[in-house]
Amino acid sequence: MAAVVVVGAGVGGLAAAARLAAAGHRVTVCEATDSAGGKLGWYERDGYGFDTGPSLLTMPEVFEDLFAATGGPLAAAVTLRRLDPIARYRFADGTTLDAHSDEAAFLAELDARLGAGTGEQWRRLDGRARRAWAASEQPFLHNPVSLPALAGLAVRRPGALAAVAPGATLRGLGRRHLTDPRLRMMLDRYATYTGSDPRRAPAVLVTVPHAERRFGGWYVQGGLRLLGRAIAGRAAERGAVIRTGTPVAQITRTPGGRVDGVRLADGVLLPADIVVSGVDAARLYEGAPAERPGRRGARPLVDHPASRRRLRRLAPSLSGFVLLLALRGRTPGLAHHTVLFPADYDAEFDAVFGGRLPRDPTVYVAAPDDPVTAPPGDEAWFVLVNASPHAHPRSGDSTSDSDDGHGHGHGGSGSGLDWDRPGLVDAYARRILDLLAERGLDVRERLRWYRAVSPADLARATGAPGGAIYGVSSNGPRSAFLRPRNRSPVPGLFLVGGSAHPGGGLPLVTLSAKIVAEMIGPA
Ligand SMILES: Cc1cc2nc3c(=O)[nH]c(=O)nc-3n(C[C@H](O)[C@H](O)[C@H](O)COP(=O)(O)OP(=O)(O)OC[C@H]3O[C@@H](n4cnc5c(N)ncnc54)[C@H](O)[C@@H]3O)c2cc1C
Repeated sequence: MAAVVVVGAGVGGLAAAARLAAAGHRVTVCEATDSAGGKLGWYERDGYGFDTGPSLLTMPEVFEDLFAATGGPLAAAVTLRRLDPIARYRFADGTTLDAHSDEAAFLAELDARLGAGTGEQWRRLDGRARRAWAASEQPFLHNPVSLPALAGLAVRRPGALAAVAPGATLRGLGRRHLTDPRLRMMLDRYATYTGSDPRRAPAVLVTVPHAERRFGGWYVQGGLRLLGRAIAGRAAERGAVIRTGTPVAQITRTPGGRVDGVRLADGVLLPADIVVSGVDAARLYEGAPAERPGRRGARPLVDHPASRRRLRRLAPSLSGFVLLLALRGRTPGLAHHTVLFPADYDAEFDAVFGGRLPRDPTVYVAAPDDPVTAPPGDEAWFVLVNASPHAHPRSGDSTSDSDDGHGHGHGGSGSGLDWDRPGLVDAYARRILDLLAERGLDVRERLRWYRAVSPADLARATGAPGGAIYGVSSNGPRSAFLRPRNRSPVPGLFLVGGSAHPGGGLPLVTLSAKIVAEMIGPA
């Protein structure tokens, strides 16, 4: 039996804790904030309740596997509701399109709304996505990433490698297969599921819409936050101790370099044979910038210059600007998820990856039909737009020991925006409300109150540097290989969560926990 400390009670950390405790290890989870769940958060006020992070659950079998492996079925812990349509899209020309969960109905909808033949184009693209999924699921989603895995694939199944199309971009794939610009836009949007730019993200992300449609888009009755609570409950049932309000300041090491515990912010040392980091890899290897000018930033949790340098070659994931709207009355016929596209999608990507505010961003609305979200007869909307990560004003921004004297230096490209600039958040919130009205959803008269969550707020609430939603982006053909590994180069230190392999989003962070639990093995 090993003594394991898990740093951070996000879904990745909690899932790792549940698996490792079930495997017989002595597990302690240290979470900086007062609640478990990380980005899978919840906000309630005046009878309204909002999931503040994820609003769409995909690949439910990943969670079924986690629950089955740790003591009982998922269905006994949460109630999942399959969504149909998964989303309703509205394009700038006013066309709407329902992404029905049934494949035949979806293809018919494409033909009816976007023109005859578009359904067949999508079907062909999906055939290719199916092959890419078959080729990449086991070697890349269920196992640690490695160049030998890719080389093995090339030798054993050259056709599969062609389907994965290393070197091609998602945008390029869309151009080859789809003629309608609106359908290309729909495909491009899946790059944002990994916080990326479709013009730079790899074509293999075509597996994202494939998986979404094949395994369904789901809602957790009572709010997605209940999934986080259920995983935390499962970890505790298996004997893991979850300590909230317990920030970790440093991962400690023996003179030989192996981890031997963590030092908490209050100075207390917790010995450990193994440390699993569930925090953003930028926080782990680079530290965090000062929250306010004149303050000092946080030091890295572990000092490993090579990992820090490697991380800097990756672009951070985009962040999000969130509006929680408490609305009077209900919107007739509103879908669970609505995506309102702009006329110029590229202008949006240029802005968010260039550290600027897009004038005309895509707006995403999640409006669950669930009594816990609003008083009877009323409605709670979660509104999300893509946003540049928060960039701190340089003055006073110091993590003192990082290579260039500045934490959160990873980025390779693009820059952030100072979301704490006075007046910015409220002005942008008003702009989003106006945009919703321009695109057919005017709720300004029905608004009781709103709460805005900027990338800076997200960074403060979840410890994700800059408020990056998915850790690091998949921009660039080599991003999957540069992404921090689950087994770190520091002996005894493992990584789970959105910035580590295989990536961000609830199913992938849960898979990262499975990979790490298998690496560590039973007690
Ligand atoms: C607005 C938004 C919308 C999203 N939408 C979706 C969606 O629809 N579907 C989907 O699948 N995914 C979505 N995601 C992504 C998903 O939420 C994340 O990929 C996932 O929850 C990240 O889990 P994680 O394990 O990386 O940990 P995180 O949730 O990042 O949690 C890390 C935890 O570590 C803690 N921590 C940090 N530093 C320390 C320290 N020094 N000591 C102790 N604890 C520390 C933090 O407080 C936090 O609780 C969304 C995210 C956001 C923000």
